[in-house]
Amino acid sequence: MTNQKICNTCVLPVDASPNSIDSENCRLCNSPDLLKHINIKPDNDKLLQMIEQIRRKGKDQPYDCVVAWSGGRDSTFMLHQLVVKHNLRCVAVFGRTPFTPIEIVNSVHSIAEKLKIRLIEIETPSNHKEIAGYCLKEYTKTHLPILINLACASCKFVNKSLFKQADKLSVKTVIYGGNRYEYFPSGPASIDINSENRYSFFNMVRDNIARLIKGFGIIVASPALLKYCLTFFKASVLYINQYSVYLRLRYPNIDRFDYYHHADWDENSIHAILKELGWQLPAGCNSTWRADCVFEAVKNTAFKQQLGFTYAQAMYSNLIRSGKITRSEALARLEKEGISEPRLKEALRLCGLPENAIELKD
Ligand SMILES: [Zn+2]
Repeated sequence: MTNQKICNTCVLPVDASPNSIDSENCRLCNSPDLLKHINIKPDNDKLLQMIEQIRRKGKDQPYDCVVAWSGGRDSTFMLHQLVVKHNLRCVAVFGRTPFTPIEIVNSVHSIAEKLKIRLIEIETPSNHKEIAGYCLKEYTKTHLPILINLACASCKFVNKSLFKQADKLSVKTVIYGGNRYEYFPSGPASIDINSENRYSFFNMVRDNIARLIKGFGIIVASPALLKYCLTFFKASVLYINQYSVYLRLRYPNIDRFDYYHHADWDENSIHAILKELGWQLPAGCNSTWRADCVFEAVKNTAFKQQLGFTYAQAMYSNLIRSGKITRSEALARLEKEGISEPRLKEALRLCGLPENAIELKD
């Protein structure tokens, strides 16, 4: 953050041209579409209506919903609310990866017991670390930002497993806990479709086709990636998210529901419940955000090198613009919550790379 000129409204870096007002150059403050996206207010009535619909669909079945649980902050709070507040009969599906810290695994086990819910543990494909390491090695040679996203390809297989589990148990709804404040502008994998309904079937057809075309371009530019092209294809088209064309056509009777698209996301309430549940912050974490994955430190470092800002800067900017925190609070937190060096080294070690393969530079 030291020598960076940042927007005077949020905390994203801006081009330092002398005659302009800072926020005019800001990719968030200057984008009405993004501001609209993060400014959607929680809607409790709509949330309750959706919960009732999930309950109705689950009637006559052993469970109401499958909950996508990473063991991290947001999905743990969501699971608690669904079980305790809304009394849904949940099956929690915990997707474990080679980058899931042991503290998270332990928390998942003890919290599932406390909440008395059925827990199903799934794992990402066995070559997850190998692919992540391969992409990182390529990244250190080429610095192509998309390689950092491809390194995470194996995690997308969790989407497929969630629907598969729901299907097996005759569950009619899969619930996800992503929140809109995590939206990251200009990430290398983002495909912008300016539209009212980003996830309509039609828009997802366009999105999936755009990703295919982009994929061909990447393979042409970096033929070495052909080695894992089937994994990359599945991850970035078939299982890219819960709205993909493939998952819709393959599981037409299963609905998907994004809890935080209607529920309030409030950090203080979330932290209070995590404390009550005995959720442990993994070693080396300086924030609860993305505590469930050590690879986050690699991703964050690479994006900072590429774009000049971190995920935390993007998220705090979103929180400022939606009125959740003040700019000075965000600045104070960014001082303390930088990229964790121990986590970065741990992730590189897991990928089979030297500890200094990707370095933290300010
Ligand atoms: Zn700004």
